[in-house]
Amino acid sequence: MTALHVASTPADAASAAPHLLLDGVSKRFGRHAVLSELTLSVNKGEFVCLLGPSGCGKTTLLRQIAGLDAPDAGRILLNGRDITRLPPAARDYGMVFQSYALFPNLDVAGNIAYGLGGRRADKQRRVSELLALIGLDDIAEKYPAQLSGGQQQRVALARALAVSPSLLLLDEPLSALDARVREHLRREIRALQQKLGVTTIMVTHDQEEALTMADRVVVMHGGRIEQCASPHTVYREPASRFVASFVGQGNWLAGRALGGQQAQLGERVLTLAQSHGLANGQPLSLFIRPEDLILHAGWSASRDADLAEVRKLELLGPIYRVGLHVPAWGGAEVQADLTHAQLAELELTPQRRVPLSLNLARLQVFAAEVAPCGA
Ligand code: ATP
Repeated sequence: MTALHVASTPADAASAAPHLLLDGVSKRFGRHAVLSELTLSVNKGEFVCLLGPSGCGKTTLLRQIAGLDAPDAGRILLNGRDITRLPPAARDYGMVFQSYALFPNLDVAGNIAYGLGGRRADKQRRVSELLALIGLDDIAEKYPAQLSGGQQQRVALARALAVSPSLLLLDEPLSALDARVREHLRREIRALQQKLGVTTIMVTHDQEEALTMADRVVVMHGGRIEQCASPHTVYREPASRFVASFVGQGNWLAGRALGGQQAQLGERVLTLAQSHGLANGQPLSLFIRPEDLILHAGWSASRDADLAEVRKLELLGPIYRVGLHVPAWGGAEVQADLTHAQLAELELTPQRRVPLSLNLARLQVFAAEVAPCGA
C-alpha cells in the first residue's frame, strides 16, 4: 500500500536540488520551432503554472515532461534521474487532462483504483482514503455519467494521485467547468497540493487561475520563457513588454527619455523611481496599471498632477474602471481603477475634469522600438 506523502517545508525546497529540471529543451514540428532551448527548474513541493496564449507551447512542454512526446534536444531530470527517453509509465507522475478522461464503464472506485496494484483490501482502503481526500466519500459506486463536471475532475485528480506520484501534471484541468465550480476547485486543488506537498505543473491560459494558484508562474511566448517568478512579481514587475501586456490590464503611454531618471510625457517631465538607462531623446513606452493612477479630490499647484477629463465609467463589480483623456500627456487615453468609495468621494461623472497623476514608483519603462503589444 502506498502511503500519502506529507509535504516537505518550503525551507527544504529552497535548499534541495531541483525536483524537476528542464535543461535546454527544444522541440520542432516540421520547420516550426515550438520550444526553443527552454530551461526551468522546479523545487520539490512547488506549484508551477505554465501560462501563455494559445499556441505558445505550454501543452507541448507538458507532453515532453510526461513522455507523450520526445524533445529534439535537451534533457529532463526528475529527482536527479534523467527521464528524457523513458516511456511514460516509467516516469512517476500523475496527470489530469481538460476532458475528464474517466473510464465510462467503471464506477468511481474502479476509476481511482485502476492503476493500483496489490491486494483487493489494500486497494479498497486506498480508494476510501482518496475519496475522503477529495471530499466525495459517498460516490464510490456512481458512474462518471452520473457525476457533475466538477466531481469528475475531482475523481480524475484522485486517480492521478492514487499511486502517490512524485509529480502531478495538470493540463487545463478546470477550463471545461463553469466559473463558480472552477473557482471552488482552484482552492480545493491548491489546498490538496499543499497538504500532500506534491510537485505540480499546471498548464493554463487563464491568468487569474495562474496568479491565484501558483507558487511561481512561467509566462511563455513563442516557445520561450518570458518570465518565471512569483505571481506578485509577474503582475507588479513584468519582465518584458509581452508579460506586461498579457498579464492583467495596463496603460501604455508614449514618452521620450531625458537625461538621468527623467522622461518626457507630453508636456510633463517625470522623475522616475529608477534610471531608465536609455539615451537622451530615445522614444520609450511607459507602462502603468489602472490601480496605479491617482485621481485627486482637489487641485493643488504643488502636486504633480494634470487635468484629465472623464470619458467613461464602467462598473466591473467591486471596482469602477474610469476612462480618462489627458491633454497634457500628449492627449493620452488612460484607464484608472477606483473603488466605489473613491468614486463617491471624487463625485466623478462623465465630462467632469479631475486632477490626475501617476504613481511613479509603479511606472515601468520599456524601450519603444516596436509598437507596444496590446496598446
Ligand atoms: P493552447 O492553449 O491552444 O493549447 P499551447 O500553448 O498549449 O496552446 P501547443 O499545443 O503546445 O500550444 O502548440 C504549440 C504549437 O505547436 C502550435 O502552433 C501547434 O499548432 C503546434 N503543434 C502542437 N502539436 C503539434 C503536432 N503534433 N504536430 C504539428 N504541430 C503541432
